[in-house]
Amino acid sequence: MSAAPPGSDRGAEHPADALERLSFALQELRATAARLEVPSGGAGALTQAIDALADALDAAYAERTHNRHDPLTGLPDRGALHEALRERLAAGAEVGLLYIDFDRFRRVNDALGHDAGDRLMAAAAQRLQGIVDAGDLIGRHGGDEFLLVCEGVRALAYANAVHAAFGEPFHIGGEAHWVTPSIGIALGPAHGHDPAALIRCADLAMYECKRSGRLDWCMYEPALGQRHRARLRLDSQLRQAMRKGEFRLVYQPQVDLASNQLVGAEALIRWHNPALGEMRPDRFITHVERSDVMAGLGRWVLAEACRQMRAWRDAGLALPRVAVNVSSRQLLGDDLARDTHAALRDADLPGEALELELTERVLVEDLPDTTEAFAALRALGVVLTIDDFGEGYSALEYLRRLPIHGLKLSKLFVDGVPETPSDVAVCRAVHGIAHHLGLELVVEGVEREQQRAFLLDIGVRRAQGFLFSPGLSGDDFLAYARTLPSP
Ligand code: C2E
Ligand code: CA
Ligand code: CA
Repeated sequence: MSAAPPGSDRGAEHPADALERLSFALQELRATAARLEVPSGGAGALTQAIDALADALDAAYAERTHNRHDPLTGLPDRGALHEALRERLAAGAEVGLLYIDFDRFRRVNDALGHDAGDRLMAAAAQRLQGIVDAGDLIGRHGGDEFLLVCEGVRALAYANAVHAAFGEPFHIGGEAHWVTPSIGIALGPAHGHDPAALIRCADLAMYECKRSGRLDWCMYEPALGQRHRARLRLDSQLRQAMRKGEFRLVYQPQVDLASNQLVGAEALIRWHNPALGEMRPDRFITHVERSDVMAGLGRWVLAEACRQMRAWRDAGLALPRVAVNVSSRQLLGDDLARDTHAALRDADLPGEALELELTERVLVEDLPDTTEAFAALRALGVVLTIDDFGEGYSALEYLRRLPIHGLKLSKLFVDGVPETPSDVAVCRAVHGIAHHLGLELVVEGVEREQQRAFLLDIGVRRAQGFLFSPGLSGDDFLAYARTLPSP
């Protein structure tokens, strides 16, 4: 507690804010000086000192209220945004708040360096500034996040205007860079009475927009908060699951359609939680991929699949290799090659005994740091396969560019053969692509005898699916393998 300022005995309220307190003290000082009986020269010096202090105080005030700008973009900063929100809410206005977050800034920083990143940030800020009318406010909240404060009724129009403004790329360092905004909207006072609460709501809505991957903007609703809490809960359950050993792998056999021999296995993760029951990967893997749990889980899957492979080999099973699903997140980190190497070494396996299944998405996006990861994996001798081939991407360029060994045709296209002509066409086309590029082809999701006959007929050799077997424990897999003709 600071000492009571002079004059507080007169009952004046003691202000809480530091600048207000200084100003208050200065007034008291001025009053005291006026009452003092000092020689004329001394009084002048005292008044001068007090005036100088008052000037400094005014400057501090001015800086706080008028000049709180982010140096990089020239836009109002976080503090100024909070204050503008507070003022509008206090005045009883319907406030619209847009939380704008950009997707590609980090990549520009990584690829072109921070100078280029800064230039892009400033250019993006300028575009935002360009669509905001007088009376509304756009500011930088931090990082690549901006807040737009407007009248409540204008929020949606602004969301559309922001998207329109980013329809054209930015030209930085002689290259075109597209920047896609994710926008969350919250309305005050309906969603929050104070700046912090309102910003939190808009942030949650923005996160939902990003998660959806396809919405232009998302409006806050209370269910978002509940879903967010549910995700946090799932997150903590997943973290504990690692420690408590609730994960296991099952192995789905891959079979040669002509000879019925076992040619491989795909490791599939299973999670049994006492409270949640049996959880299929569809229910948690996308969640895991977004969190830092993935690194640990991915490492465990690699090690466990290799350990099982070693156990099978020791039991006399001549299985050429085991396939493991790898998330894009793992490929983007720099640990994948190291973890793969460690898993192989610990199980005393050659690289060829392991296959990594990667989804197309990470390959198409052409990220700068995947090239090194691919080179390192290639050096280990592991087999690289593109999973769910054909689902949604048509850029085939990467097939030539990257050291890919095989394709895995998605179940999506196998379901309809031989009845559906378009599925038949896709199966034939993909088989053709694989054949001409010298890639191996595995077909997944074979459930019926007619599918097997059709695939065999067009020349596909390797397949997996419920027609043969679902995923099996390591021991059941061994038993199953012994029922098949040996190579
Ligand atoms: P995926 O890689 O496409 O795996 C094939 C999925 O299809 C598996 O589901 C498998 O059980 C199922 N399946 C196999 N044959 C048939 C069939 O004939 N009919 C039908 N209806 N389904 C069949 P699962 O095990 O639920 O895995 C779902 C997805 O989860 C996988 O799709 C994969 O993307 C992901 N996943 C599984 N394990 C892992 C893992 O260890 N790491 C990562 N990152 N992802 C994993
Ligand atoms: Ca797979
Ligand atoms: Ca699939």
